[in-house]
Amino acid sequence: NGLMKKVNQQVLSVCTIVVFSLFAGICVCVHTSVPLMPVLLLFPMTLIPLYRDARMGIFQGICSIAIYIAYRLYFVPHTPYMPPRNSLIDVTIFVASAIALYVIVEQVNISFILYDEKSSRDSLTHFHNHESFYEELEYYMKSYQQKKAPFSVLIADIDDFKKVNDTYGHAFGDQVIRQVVEAFDLIRGKNDFAARYGGEEFAMILPGRTLKEAAEVGERIRQEFENYAFLTTEGTRHFTLSVGVAEYNKVYENASSFFECADRALYQAKKTGKNKVCYNNGECITDMQKEK
Ligand code: GH3
Ligand code: MG
Ligand code: MG
Repeated sequence: NGLMKKVNQQVLSVCTIVVFSLFAGICVCVHTSVPLMPVLLLFPMTLIPLYRDARMGIFQGICSIAIYIAYRLYFVPHTPYMPPRNSLIDVTIFVASAIALYVIVEQVNISFILYDEKSSRDSLTHFHNHESFYEELEYYMKSYQQKKAPFSVLIADIDDFKKVNDTYGHAFGDQVIRQVVEAFDLIRGKNDFAARYGGEEFAMILPGRTLKEAAEVGERIRQEFENYAFLTTEGTRHFTLSVGVAEYNKVYENASSFFECADRALYQAKKTGKNKVCYNNGECITDMQKEK
């Protein structure tokens, strides 16, 4: 579905480029008497940011240049009107406008990217949010289907967090949440995709890692977080995490039906005493600490 959307978007972009380039080309050819008219060919380029694809920008540039060359080599010699004789002026203005346009396009693109970044991040932790986690998960599920590239996911949930909030207040609770982020950032690899799944729940995609490897990462995060000493009004306190892990090693119907596997492992960890990592290999759920 997402892929289909992308293909449709590309077809739409190509059509837009062709239609606008032809429109500009016709204007240029009809108005050969007007000096500097080739600059008109650059106008379709102002649409580049809307395509959201660098290749479309290049395609647009090629179209504009091709029409300009056709205009110079074919149309100008065959028209009774007289365009400016000096093609150096044309070229100079064409290049200068292209550079100016490029700068504007870049600025617009940057603001698009910043906007995207902002809306895909969680404001408290600056981790990716729930929605972008699922987008990323779907991407890895697709690449598993295409390239058989396996990956694992984990979900971590702070133990008895309601009590933390009730005892020390929500501001303190937020601080505890940020500490989970620190632990994630410290332990995860550069290809691992971490997100704030919900209130005090964090999820991560670990590309190329087996169930056991991902469980090891989860265990290191669990230990890192557990070892952190929080200063409270009643002295130092330690808090704990429960973690559920699952590996993507067969095709699932959709992202949430797969993620449920990690969720079930997390539930198992909670049910059997918390502060532990459990993993789900599809058949049974293993308590990592017990196995050791
Ligand atoms: P369990 O060990 O079973 O996970 O128990 P728990 O108390 O952690 O579980 P529960 O999911 O019931 O509680 C989660 C609490 O997290 C409820 C909510 O008030 C709190 N919470 C959710 N988001 C935030 C947040 O952004 N900041 C703070 N301070 N608290 C939050
Ligand atoms: Mg929870
Ligand atoms: Mg909890």
